[in-house]
Amino acid sequence: MAWHPIFKRRRRKKGIEDERTLGEIYLLHFDRPYKHARHYMGWALIAADRIAEHRNGNGSNLMAVLKTIGIGFQIAWIKPGTRLDERKLKNRGGSARQCPICLQKEDNNAHTGIDC
Ligand SMILES: [Zn+2]
Repeated sequence: MAWHPIFKRRRRKKGIEDERTLGEIYLLHFDRPYKHARHYMGWALIAADRIAEHRNGNGSNLMAVLKTIGIGFQIAWIKPGTRLDERKLKNRGGSARQCPICLQKEDNNAHTGIDC
């Protein structure tokens, strides 16, 4: 009764990778917000490969939705790390403050005096 398909899927994650496997953490910045989401942070052994999947609407439910409704995204950054590191970054919150694209926009707004 406590069984839920998502548990099974998580535990069955393919391959040898676990939360300490060194891969790449990436942050994607959406061209426009989807509901309250402006970013997607993920982890993959090879981020570029996973991001290519995302561009085709694969690899994540959220990214599939974005593809369907036609929201594009840019890569804010890719850096080496483990799933544990990814979780720490996510727990820290405030993706916008970790996103150079957002920070740059803020900067431009400050210079031009645009309020938003
Ligand atoms: Zn951003």
